[in-house]
Amino acid sequence: MNPELRELYQAVILDHNKKPRNFRVLEEANRSAEGFNPLCGDRVTVYLDVEDGVVRKASFQGSGCAISTASASLMTQAVEGRPVDEVRRLFERFHGLVTGSGREAPDAEALGKLAVFSGVREFPARVKCATLVWHALEKALEGKQEVATTE
Ligand code: ZN
Repeated sequence: MNPELRELYQAVILDHNKKPRNFRVLEEANRSAEGFNPLCGDRVTVYLDVEDGVVRKASFQGSGCAISTASASLMTQAVEGRPVDEVRRLFERFHGLVTGSGREAPDAEALGKLAVFSGVREFPARVKCATLVWHALEKALEGKQEVATTE
């Protein structure tokens, strides 16, 4: 990755950690799920308002490292207004991006701002911090109540 891009990505992550977007309990939520990453101690609760197969609103609360907080913040922005099946595909893409295991090259256009986490693949211990909120999101979409854990 070129150094300028790396710096830009770093700045976006730090900004979302400092001022997380959609950081609140969603009153109108009809789905929610918790996630826990014991490796780092990150905890997150995802709230969703899903109507007619579309994620109308998404929010989160919790505490964790900069990567997990920024990931949750950017995730809530990325999924709002999207159909559930699209959200699942986005998670697959994101997972491929941060693990470097994607069968296809990361689609920068489809990932949008989520591309800022592409550097995470160089730090395998951080992958779970970045994906925790997505695992919780998946649990919420499935309507399951148990805590999503990265282990
Ligand atoms: Zn973490």
